[in-house]
Amino acid sequence: MAEKITNEFLLEQAGEYGTPLYVYHGEKIKEQYEKLSSAFSALDTKFFYASKALTNINILRYIKNLGCNVDCSSSNEVKLALHAGFEPERVLYTSNGISFAEIEEAAAAGVHINIDSLSNLEKFGKKYGHTYPVGIRIRPNIMAGGNIKISTGHNTSKFGIPVHQIEDIERLMKETNICIHALHIHTGSDIKDPDIFVKGIEVLFELIPHFPDLKVIDLGGGFKVPYKPGEDEVNMPLLARRIKETFVSDFQTQNRNLSLWFEPGKFLVSECGYLLATVTVLKDTGEITFAAVNSGLNHLIRPMMYDAYHHLENISNPKGVKKNYWVTGNICETDNFAAGRTLNEIREGDILAIYNGGAYGFEMASNYNSRYKPAEVLVENGIARLIRRRDNFEDLIRNQAELI
Ligand code: PLP
Repeated sequence: MAEKITNEFLLEQAGEYGTPLYVYHGEKIKEQYEKLSSAFSALDTKFFYASKALTNINILRYIKNLGCNVDCSSSNEVKLALHAGFEPERVLYTSNGISFAEIEEAAAAGVHINIDSLSNLEKFGKKYGHTYPVGIRIRPNIMAGGNIKISTGHNTSKFGIPVHQIEDIERLMKETNICIHALHIHTGSDIKDPDIFVKGIEVLFELIPHFPDLKVIDLGGGFKVPYKPGEDEVNMPLLARRIKETFVSDFQTQNRNLSLWFEPGKFLVSECGYLLATVTVLKDTGEITFAAVNSGLNHLIRPMMYDAYHHLENISNPKGVKKNYWVTGNICETDNFAAGRTLNEIREGDILAIYNGGAYGFEMASNYNSRYKPAEVLVENGIARLIRRRDNFEDLIRNQAELI
């Protein structure tokens, strides 16, 4: 197990680099990757890190060096992955709602592609025919995931080609001779129940006979990680066992030799990250004590966007008397990090650590209220290095034309 980063170490980083600051713990990413690869070692499995969770180039390279591949959600993520040194065959582009030109760009780079609409599938088939094996994203009509905003496989979701349109897919295969080598699903995020993955395999199982060139079943990402203290992550050995049983009994009976791909995002990087923020104002209103910090939904939007729970600690006063607080940001919006949370006594100037900051934290950050995006630090073998400097005023005005 990766040695836990201590409060003292986090405080040192806040002192060295200032706050707000994202700190990522490399060995925690490694620990998570090893859990995955050892659980699935008995199957022909490949993992593609869903880089949308966190794309700092150093994180991409760290993950590449672990032996993991990379999944991308835009042609710029593909460019970042190639820039980080991934060979094209280790890059997967799972597109949705994009112009065909972006798919052509990905094909020119030679990466794996998952297509999620009949419209782009037809264009792809017409242009590449049988010459470029491609995957298709299927919408399996399965409701899964921590909440509706992160559920992507249900019957009103925009993602994927609905499973009932199989005849249209077949028609395009006949008309264009397209080579479909992968079937992909991703039903949502924060999934703990192995049965969801089993259900997904069963939906795909029905489709297999329609795809003579099939080599890959891609089950996407979505593995649950703990956000609250005491919460469990997905039981990876159990999940792997259940998937293996279903995979072997369903697919091998069809005499098909298929590889299994996954696209873990949160599972690899959520817990490695901490957002450190300094308490700027304490406001006791009688009923509520607000502790405002020098950060906000501009740096970590998950609590406000998904009602996500992020564990918080006052690392400056870990023995302080427990009191109840609403921890807010300094943005001109309601931007709670926590509403009604018991924490060690908070004083102005204290540093709070916000946990699970690695996935969809910095990556979804913005310059809202013309605030700077935080700096990022990567810790490897106890040594912290700056992997992105904090924004400065130049960054705010760089792309603006000053015409007036
Ligand atoms: N794959 C696809 C296609 C996704 O859209 C996502 C996230 O939304 C992921 C993988 C990663 O999901 P998670 O971070 O929950 O593992």
